[in-house]
Amino acid sequence: MRIAIFGGTFDPVHTGHLEVAREALRHCRLDRVLFVPASHPPHKGGVAVAPYEDRVRMLELACAGEPAFEVSRLEEGERVSYSIHTIEKVRGTLGPDDELFFLIGADAFAELTTWYRWEDVVRLVTFIVASRPGHNYQVPAGSRVIPLTTLALPVSSRELRSRLAAGEEPPEIPKPVLEYIRAKGLYRDGAAGPVQHPDR
Ligand code: ATP
Repeated sequence: MRIAIFGGTFDPVHTGHLEVAREALRHCRLDRVLFVPASHPPHKGGVAVAPYEDRVRMLELACAGEPAFEVSRLEEGERVSYSIHTIEKVRGTLGPDDELFFLIGADAFAELTTWYRWEDVVRLVTFIVASRPGHNYQVPAGSRVIPLTTLALPVSSRELRSRLAAGEEPPEIPKPVLEYIRAKGLYRDGAAGPVQHPDR
């Protein structure tokens, strides 16, 4: 099995995430992409705009009909979500012949050496780094990187949150996810940035 972990806040999930995952699947001949939403993302001040449960639900809606995509609750309830913990947990479920990848955008990969136990992270996974407009990165010594350069999609969750707050229905958000956002009244107030949110 060739499995990629795709971590993120997914606040909300958008076509950029999905297209990057499809491209990685094809390019790296993966069997599965495991979407792992962070409960408290350390690189976003530990907070997301939408509650964890809603971000999981939106991912499930977006991944329905994609047999190779799976949504994981591995980071549920964690005080802070550290990738190394997720990687170790997933590694523990794999056999010796299985290969573990970590799918990531260029912006996030550029911050790799600030991660908790990043030296352990690079030993355990091969990174698949998706290009993102305006973001360059260095490859830290010892890390294995497969660059995914065929896509450079300008879409971001932050921009989509602003557009949702302005009453738009951005086409970069899958239809069932948009319907969920409307039904739950998510992202309605003007704040595009994270606000403190009690977990449900
Ligand atoms: P925000 O705008 O709130 O920072 P985001 O759009 O970057 O959010 P995240 O959930 O933080 O979304 O991203 C999860 C992962 O997906 C990260 O590795 C990020 O780099 C990657 N990613 C998100 N959007 C893109 C994109 N358009 N192209 C390539 N990678 C992306």
